[in-house]
Amino acid sequence: MDVRRNVSFIGLTTEWHCLVLPFAFIADAMSFDPIVQVSVSEQVAQRLLTMIRSGLLKPGQQLPPERDLASMLGVGRPAVREAIRGLALLGLLRIRQGEGTFVGSLEMRELLEPLEMVIELNAGTLEALFDARLVIEPGVAALAAMHIGDTEIARLHALVDDEQALLGNPETFSAADMAFHETIVDACENPFLQSISNSLYVLGKKSRRVTSQVEGVLARSLQDHRHILDALEARDPEQASQAMRRHLCRVRDAYAASGSLAKAAEGTVDV
Ligand SMILES: [Zn+2]
Repeated sequence: MDVRRNVSFIGLTTEWHCLVLPFAFIADAMSFDPIVQVSVSEQVAQRLLTMIRSGLLKPGQQLPPERDLASMLGVGRPAVREAIRGLALLGLLRIRQGEGTFVGSLEMRELLEPLEMVIELNAGTLEALFDARLVIEPGVAALAAMHIGDTEIARLHALVDDEQALLGNPETFSAADMAFHETIVDACENPFLQSISNSLYVLGKKSRRVTSQVEGVLARSLQDHRHILDALEARDPEQASQAMRRHLCRVRDAYAASGSLAKAAEGTVDV
C-alpha cells in the first residue's frame, strides 16, 4: 500500500480517515516507506561499486586478497566473499582461480551479458528489441552517412566480403553482421548512440541466433547490407536510413516467421 498516497487523500480514503489525520501534516516531510535492512555483504558490494564508479578501482585492476579486504572494511571474510561473487555474476568483477579477483573490463558489452538470460526467458522482449532497433538504427544510418570516413567504408566492404564467404556458416555470419552494424554506429562518433546500440546488439545476439537459422535470411541480409553500404558510400542519409529500415523489417519478419514455425513444430500453433 502506498501510504503517502493515502495520506495525501486524507478524508477521502476509507482505510485511513480517522487514524491518519494527526499525521497528515508531517506526511509530506516524512516517508513511511519501510526501513530496508542492508546486509553486510550488500554494503561491501556497494562500497566496491562506488570505488569502481569513482575510478578508484580501474578496469583490469587486481583487488587486494579477501583477507585484507575484510580487515580494511572491518567485516568478516564471508561477507567479502559473497559481495565479490555477486559482483562477479554481474560481470563487474572477474574471479581468476589461483590468481585473484580483478575488476572486469567494464565494457558495455560485457556488463550486459547477464541480461541475455532475460531475452531467453521472454519472447516479448525480443519483439521490443526489434522495435527499438527500428527506432534507432535508421537514424544511426542517416547520421553515419554524413560522418562516415574512408576507413569505415573500407571496413564495411571487408565485412560484406566476409559475409559473402560465410553464407554457409550462420554463427560466424552473425558475428560479421554485428560488426557491420557496430561499424556504422562507430562512424557516427556519438558516445550516446554507441552506448544505446551496444546494449541492443548484446541483447540481439539471441535473435540473430534464431533468425540466422532461417532459410534464405543470410543471403537476404547480405544483399541488404550491400544496399546500406552503397547509400553510406554515396553519403546519402535518406537512402541509408531507408535501406536500414528495410533490412531490419525483413529480419524482424524472418524472426516472427521462425517463431510461428517453431511453435507449429511443437504443435501449439497452426501455420
Ligand atoms: Zn544486418
